[in-house]
Amino acid sequence: MSVNVHINSPNVRYTDTHIVSQYPYQTTSVHREGNAVTVTPRTTELTFRTERRVPRLGVMLVGWGGNNGTTVTAAVLANKLGLTWRTKTGEKKANYFGSLLQASTICLGSDLEGEVNVPLCDFLPMVHPNDIVFDGWDISSMDLGSAMERAQVFDWSLQEQLQPHMSRMKPRPSISIPEFIAANQESRADNILTGSMAEQVEQIRADIRDFQKSSNVDKIIVLWTANTERFCDIIPGVHDTAENLLAGIQAGAAISPSTLFAVASILEGCAYINGSPQNTFVPGVIELAVQKGVFIGGDDFKSGQTKIKSVLVDFLVSSGIKPTAIVSYNHLGNNDGKNLSAPQQFRSKEISKSNVVDDMVQSNPILYQPGEKPDHCVVIKYVPYVGDSKRAMDEYTSEIMMGGTNTIALHNTCEDSLLASPIILDLVILTELCQRVTVQPHGEEDFLSFHSVLAVLSFLCKAPLVPSGTPVINAFFRQRACILNIMRACLGLPPQNHMLLEHKLQ
Ligand code: NAD
Repeated sequence: MSVNVHINSPNVRYTDTHIVSQYPYQTTSVHREGNAVTVTPRTTELTFRTERRVPRLGVMLVGWGGNNGTTVTAAVLANKLGLTWRTKTGEKKANYFGSLLQASTICLGSDLEGEVNVPLCDFLPMVHPNDIVFDGWDISSMDLGSAMERAQVFDWSLQEQLQPHMSRMKPRPSISIPEFIAANQESRADNILTGSMAEQVEQIRADIRDFQKSSNVDKIIVLWTANTERFCDIIPGVHDTAENLLAGIQAGAAISPSTLFAVASILEGCAYINGSPQNTFVPGVIELAVQKGVFIGGDDFKSGQTKIKSVLVDFLVSSGIKPTAIVSYNHLGNNDGKNLSAPQQFRSKEISKSNVVDDMVQSNPILYQPGEKPDHCVVIKYVPYVGDSKRAMDEYTSEIMMGGTNTIALHNTCEDSLLASPIILDLVILTELCQRVTVQPHGEEDFLSFHSVLAVLSFLCKAPLVPSGTPVINAFFRQRACILNIMRACLGLPPQNHMLLEHKLQ
């Protein structure tokens, strides 16, 4: 049951089209000289303006026929149709567990009965996942019904109910450059565009326009959930500027499929999100996105092991405990695991998983000397039998008081695609919301939108992409607080301070 939130404040106005809030943004400026640190509080008056009309959203997935692509499409369908199905442990009902926006809450304060928590999705006007229209591309021509069966994620009795709907959907032919993904993927590639690189990019652009017309959606977001590519070597004169990149496409230069999709989307004015670890966002793509004022976000869904890492290391370091070695093993048997069994694709994943503790380590000079880091090792193995049910085993060794050692070992088992799918929904819904928010600094005429590199998505990404020169935040609760506090600012509410002073004074 949805809740209607109304803000009663002279600083917040509801017009027919917008929610407008006056917001004192409080920060500090800090000056360090030797051991002396001077902190000066600063307040900047801002006006937040949020468009109230929620558009009809289309989402185009690259890799639509994969485990994530079929799972997210089928899960939305199951929710929309209100499906239930029987398993050996009883009746299950479609839901959106694992989605920050659909299944977690924000605390608005207390009334006489206690704390009032409301779902994030009711806090500001935003797209409901049930209303998203899906389309996409895959190098495998299999219809989504058969691809869902190939994925082996859902219980059979649910698949049977979904089949008639899913089998009607078919991925569009895609751009394939075999050297970017593992050679073991070749056998599924039977749905491939031909023609020059420039012609293929034109076809992707035409597909986006065709989907917009045929589905009648107001806007489209494109999201890469295709296989992990190897890193692309950044070649000066090809990848370094928007102009060179566009010229490189005309010349058929060494540009990865994911970068070609990013360029096609940006040129069509569609936000582009990268759910895999590769370096899609070469400097030329970032420049193009900024020039066109289009959002890009990534990289790599933060779904399981890395999510726990960004919680656990945050907890340890902020408690004054010093992690000294973090060792993470994974084994999985889905097609993602098969692709990652090739060294160059594994390397992309390893890089993406490796920097996640950096900000937390750097935040504590009591525990770590400059440049010091915990040993951090990531292993991924392909074990076909376990399918989509990924195993992640982690060992965290930390130094505690007086030379003591603390070792925490974790074993995590669950369907990988059921963790990634709600994140896909959060990514596109949050991106769409950010497209409707603008901010006006006091005394200025123009309303500004968020930077094209949409760092607000960091919570959902293993290796957050941020505008050049800005800090990368991996710590889980800082990332979550960022999203919630920006949403609160849109409604003129101060950041949640958790002080509860009203209960602490006498
Ligand atoms: P998958 O192999 O089941 O699906 C990928 C799909 O992409 C396949 O159907 C494949 O045919 C298709 N494909 C490959 N190259 C393509 C191209 N050039 N154009 C269009 N389609 C192409 O994998 P998955 O389990 O769905 O994972 C997808 C991606 O998400 C992987 O890169 C994975 O590393 C990443 N990821 C997944 C999770 C998770 O929890 N599931 C978390 C983080 C990242």
